[in-house]
Amino acid sequence: MDVKVLVSGASIAGPVLAYWLNRYGFDVTVVEKAPELRKTGGHAVDLYGPAMEISERMGVGAAVKDLATGTDDMAVLRNDRPARHIDLRKIYEAGSDKHVEIMRDDLSGIYFDTARNDVEYVFSDSISEIAEDGEVAFDNGPTRKFDLVIGADGLHSNVRRLAFGPESDYSSFLGAYLAVQSVPRDFGEPGMYKVYTEAGLLTGVYGAEHLDDARAVFLFRTERPLDYQRKDIPLQKDFVRERFADRHPEVDRWLTELDGTPAFYFDSITQLSMETWSKGRVSLVGDAGYCPGPAVGGSTSLAVYGAYVLAGELAEAGGDHTKAYPAYERAMAEAVEKSRSFARGAAKSIIPGSRFGSWALVNGARLVTAMPGPIRRGLMKMNGASIRFFDSLPVKDYERR
Ligand SMILES: Cc1cc2nc3c(=O)[nH]c(=O)nc-3n(C[C@H](O)[C@H](O)[C@H](O)COP(=O)(O)OP(=O)(O)OC[C@H]3O[C@@H](n4cnc5c(N)ncnc54)[C@H](O)[C@@H]3O)c2cc1C
Repeated sequence: MDVKVLVSGASIAGPVLAYWLNRYGFDVTVVEKAPELRKTGGHAVDLYGPAMEISERMGVGAAVKDLATGTDDMAVLRNDRPARHIDLRKIYEAGSDKHVEIMRDDLSGIYFDTARNDVEYVFSDSISEIAEDGEVAFDNGPTRKFDLVIGADGLHSNVRRLAFGPESDYSSFLGAYLAVQSVPRDFGEPGMYKVYTEAGLLTGVYGAEHLDDARAVFLFRTERPLDYQRKDIPLQKDFVRERFADRHPEVDRWLTELDGTPAFYFDSITQLSMETWSKGRVSLVGDAGYCPGPAVGGSTSLAVYGAYVLAGELAEAGGDHTKAYPAYERAMAEAVEKSRSFARGAAKSIIPGSRFGSWALVNGARLVTAMPGPIRRGLMKMNGASIRFFDSLPVKDYERR
């Protein structure tokens, strides 16, 4: 098929989309603004049923399982009292029949490897202009012509800004922030997620057998968005320090690493809501088009699923985007709406708003794990939506055309 597709972004949605488009015979180029695949930084992400099934169809199901974090015990730290333990396996099982937790950077590397030799990857560049006829200008490279341009460039998507306007037109703040930093390996214990929670905040550390470091995650609520520039990392670190210092000796130890950490991620928990995420030759996939909110709504599984569906619909329409884009949006509508709804509930319950909320979170989780399977599954609801909806999404076989 002589259809040239430019994909912006090489994290999760980008490499999955590139793999499937290449498999269906499209000519694919991926442009990524980072100088190389971003191998460090980020939190563990969840793959639910359909995302695992798609990974298996890409031939990487075993590789994904091999690099699973294996975190199955949550130890809730308390001042002057022993930690309280929660069996996470029971919570995962209640959420999905095929759940795998894996580091974002490991997953990105696995997906990238599936088509790295068949797809053109261009690093250290970014799109600066997209003309209606498909002519694309870049910050560094020469202007080139493509039939289709797809933004897989995350919550702060550049393609979305160029084609649809400023992010503020489509985003709503869910009342919380997320920071993740790398800490020395011995701060974590493979298999265990050490957590400390109080009203308005939650922090934790975990490691995995195969990792050289451990990761500390900080989640906190604010009524209004904080005033900072996205690139002002020292200020972001100050926000974390201000919120989490002097609460527990272990947490203070994690904070001592903030200045020297080799990888730091900070973002608001923001949800995107667009009526349509396609315009002319341009479409969006993953967080760029329908981020339910980092850390709260299954955004990675949604990105994998969206990339698979978009590639499949384009293949089915023989590359005719006027047919494929509306079909893609129809096929995604329910999944996007349910993850949004789940994320809005999770943003409130994962970071408890009051002392009673922290107590309820810990004791509620312990109670949930003690219930028989079917009851547990029923209790895994946020805002009326259960994360189990992922497992009910159809994974159509687009190759059987
Ligand atoms: C380094 C990093 C750390 C992360 N850590 C967390 C975390 O701790 N918790 C969490 O919930 N989510 C995290 N995320 C987001 C998470 O990966 C996504 O929510 C989810 O996996 C959906 O993936 P995506 O591919 O749609 O978007 P993303 O994973 O956000 O990927 C977007 C990609 O586009 C690239 N990009 C951005 N702008 C441009 C541009 N102008 N031109 C070309 N490329 C561009 C980015 O470098 C990135 O590779 C992180 C993302 C990144 C990139």
